[in-house]
Amino acid sequence: MRQIRQSRKLHDVRYDVRGPILVEAQRLEAEGHRILKLNIGNPAPFGFEAPEAILADVSHHLADSQGYSDSRGIFSARTAVAQYYQQRGLRETAVDDVFIGNGVSELISMVLQAFVDDGNEILVPAPDYPLWTGAVTLSGGTPVHYLCDESNDWAPDLADVEAKITENTHAIVIINPNNPTGAVYSKQVVEGLVDIARRHDLVVFADEIYEKILFDDAVHHHAAASAGSDVLCLTFSGLSKAYRVCGYRAGWVMISGPQEIATDFLEGLTLIANMRMCANVPAQHAIQTALGGYQSIEELIVPGGRFYEQSKLADRLLNEIPGVSSVAPRGALYCFPRLDPEVYAVDDDEALVIDLLRAKKILVTHGTGFNWPEPDHFRLVTLPDVDLLEEAIGRIADFLATRR
Ligand code: PLP
Repeated sequence: MRQIRQSRKLHDVRYDVRGPILVEAQRLEAEGHRILKLNIGNPAPFGFEAPEAILADVSHHLADSQGYSDSRGIFSARTAVAQYYQQRGLRETAVDDVFIGNGVSELISMVLQAFVDDGNEILVPAPDYPLWTGAVTLSGGTPVHYLCDESNDWAPDLADVEAKITENTHAIVIINPNNPTGAVYSKQVVEGLVDIARRHDLVVFADEIYEKILFDDAVHHHAAASAGSDVLCLTFSGLSKAYRVCGYRAGWVMISGPQEIATDFLEGLTLIANMRMCANVPAQHAIQTALGGYQSIEELIVPGGRFYEQSKLADRLLNEIPGVSSVAPRGALYCFPRLDPEVYAVDDDEALVIDLLRAKKILVTHGTGFNWPEPDHFRLVTLPDVDLLEEAIGRIADFLATRR
């Protein structure tokens, strides 16, 4: 019989955080092994609970959420998002500038489907959150990676961004705070990126889902949308991380800047939103409460708080391993350490990660899975509590000792 094949559109699409490494972890689990999965930033399995008010909202609205909502989202959620950005200084933001989606993930795909024509080049950071590269490819575009500079706290290399621009470049993706590096960009860097967009007529896609997960007093989040009201900017964020409800699938995209030049594109985005009916309605009800109420994330990101302490501990312990260096994350939920090639001769970092998994029953993600060009990094999720994290990094250190 004829083999049923995946579409050609998928041939160059990768999403390695749930790729062959996870298949191998699941195979080991089926054999009875307990695997510590540090490959995805999902707080709930590590004992993080959503604020009570969010759970109460969702259950309170279950009965009246049985119908589809407006495809752009329920009014109260869109108003709450608009007001949130107004309070952050974007005074012009209006309810019609907001679309609610099933997580940022869905909105990234929707926006790129509406925006990208075959062969359009979209600038994406390296390393990146790989959904961006995959979704650009799936929508017919060409992801062009600009380098983030490890020796400069993983800040985007603005000269490299400029050098990668061609007449086919249409947009730039900014992920700040960054997954996988944990970098939080300075005002100058954000302004520099937006200025490049301005000068080259690019749309800015700003993925700011970790905007509230910032570790040190000195670190302030500079929203790309605030850096230029004359640049069309789509800002993505949601409840998954700061409110610990990845499973509810609640995110939004806010459009700012000169929308009059984008009416056709926004009609296309509305068409795509209509075609998928709406986002999960019960979860949309949580957005207003999440954004308006007491921000419980504050307790997690200060000294003594779990996100803060775990990030600091992971950073310290990773840097103690011979031949490993890790730039201290200033936000988000990850470390992205480097394996010195003079100490560890790694040709295939995915194979290394699978060897670690088989030997020590810990799943991390290889750096090339984030479109990092060299096989010399991996990403560790810093969600386990300090005891488990210490044990996990101890096991990684023991494994690496066999590879020197
Ligand atoms: N953007 C970044 C940078 C992420 O790290 C993630 C999830 O890890 C997402 C988007 C997707 O988030 P959501 O759960 O809202 O789909």
